[in-house]
Amino acid sequence: MISVQQIHKKFGKLEVLKDFNLEFEAGNSYALMGPNGSGKTTLIKIILGMVIPNSGDVLVQGEAIKGNYAYRSKIGYMPQIGRYPENIKIGQLFSMMQDIRPEIKSYDMELVNDFGLNEMLDKPMHTLSGGTRQKVSAALAFMFQPDILILDEPTAGLDPIAVELLKTKIKKEREKGKLIIITSHILSELEELTNHAIYIFEGDVFFNDTVESLKEITGENRFSTAIARLMEWSLKKNTIKTELSHV
Ligand code: ADP
Repeated sequence: MISVQQIHKKFGKLEVLKDFNLEFEAGNSYALMGPNGSGKTTLIKIILGMVIPNSGDVLVQGEAIKGNYAYRSKIGYMPQIGRYPENIKIGQLFSMMQDIRPEIKSYDMELVNDFGLNEMLDKPMHTLSGGTRQKVSAALAFMFQPDILILDEPTAGLDPIAVELLKTKIKKEREKGKLIIITSHILSELEELTNHAIYIFEGDVFFNDTVESLKEITGENRFSTAIARLMEWSLKKNTIKTELSHV
């Protein structure tokens, strides 16, 4: 459904993604992990067409995204921090987004209702708490019933009730056969919501397999300890690399 092919991305001299290849299939939910600065957000932004790679291709449902904007309506994106015009009211923001996507006629308003946003439509964005802004971002990501959901730290800043509502919604959409990609630092959340683990380290894909295989390969039954093992291995590999470079 999404094919990332030989992507290379540099910011100045900093090589963020090196000859990067990944496949994302419908009906799966992917945990996208890696230390801070490992390139997760850059990868997501490349898939969304917000960052242009130096080389390589991204295909969404078989079509290259270069010079193609229509594919974006298939993706619901929840950014880590949603930035909106400060004076716009929640209701106006929803209508504006609906106007931008006239090809989509029916909306999924489940999160708008569950989060109680329908009672706050007259509130301007600048009056909202960080958590309510996150709720607005989540509601928008699901509103257009996209085939693909990319959620960057989706529960950060949400209150516990909203976290549970959002997790239930994510599971529901996954059961409908959608493709879901989630980055999060909360491992228990990833364990609950995903079935496939991708671990990025220093611009390369260090691990890419099912959560089941991750547990088998690391010999750990718990997701969090399996990830801790991967982190150890990735750091060791780095030490070996560094030592070799001194020879
Ligand atoms: P992650 O999401 O895994 O924390 P990012 O993709 O945000 O990592 O960043 C990867 C690296 O690229 C970091 O070193 C970051 O500082 C750098 N980077 C990201 N965006 C830019 C940019 N627009 N200009 C320069 N450097 C950037």
